[in-house]
Amino acid sequence: MARTSQQTPAPSPAGLVAAEPADIQRLVEDLDGMLNRLRLGAIREQLDGLLEEAARRQLNLREALAWLCAAEVASKEQRRLSMAMTIAHFPFVRTLEGFEFEAQPSIDPGKIRDLATCRWVANGDNVVLLGPPGVGKTHLEVALGREAVARGYTVQFTTAMELLGSLVKGQQQGTLEARLAQYSKPKLLIIDELGYLPLEPAAGHLFFQLISRRYEQGSVLISSNRPVEEWDEVFGDQVVAAAILDRLLHHSHVVTIRGDSYRLREKRRSGLFRPQAGGSSSAGIGGLPPPTPAKEA
Ligand code: ADP
Ligand code: MG
Repeated sequence: MARTSQQTPAPSPAGLVAAEPADIQRLVEDLDGMLNRLRLGAIREQLDGLLEEAARRQLNLREALAWLCAAEVASKEQRRLSMAMTIAHFPFVRTLEGFEFEAQPSIDPGKIRDLATCRWVANGDNVVLLGPPGVGKTHLEVALGREAVARGYTVQFTTAMELLGSLVKGQQQGTLEARLAQYSKPKLLIIDELGYLPLEPAAGHLFFQLISRRYEQGSVLISSNRPVEEWDEVFGDQVVAAAILDRLLHHSHVVTIRGDSYRLREKRRSGLFRPQAGGSSSAGIGGLPPPTPAKEA
């Protein structure tokens, strides 16, 4: 590793053709350095194994070169993916494969698979996920967010509280502009849990500023436990709520989930939880109206 490629002047292709065996030997000795200089770290690290495998498969030179390049591309893609997932700040790992559609019959699996293609992200459309607690809103947000990352889009996950806390602080400290710019940058901004707590009217104004800034630029994926008709109350201001909804719902896909909390369903299955006689299992949670009971499979 101490050896650097600066020790070997890069040969011109013509020089290489004319090279003596001794020159080739010198190039081989400096292979690590050259691979470093070209930032081909995966080839450098796995070189012996890759060459052995290429020989075992009796690849010709062109095939072997393609095989080495493929290893480098795969490694770079893996690194990009893992960095982008870290930057996205997902609260946990959830995937679409891990989502049991049978448990939530109000969701059209075709609609979610269509959203998983991320065409809406490419178009700068929004997605609004509505439903009571525990029905899989955050799960779907993370799963769709990961699909977007996998397709090369920049994604950031945040909660409504975290986002507004940051914007309010920005306003107090004179850094609002920078924070609005930061939240406007990712191609997809995921805002989880809007509506769990009512917002101060000032927070509603800040939210409006962010939504207008992103309008027709980048996508927003937002989830709420409150139907949009109740967003007046969430934002504490009818005019602001209408302005936010106007921009958010223009070019949008709304997915409304009606059903039982998946968590309670799991508990009920394991016998830890019994639904109350004649009622929904999750009636009254968080002061919410009882959700429509899910059809049991
Ligand atoms: P919400 O955000 O709507 O309150 P979550 O997405 O947090 O609900 O779901 C609660 C838990 O139940 C999470 O661990 C989630 O992965 C799981 N979950 C919810 N719905 C499903 C489902 N249909 N299939 C598999 N897991 C689910
Ligand atoms: Mg949630």
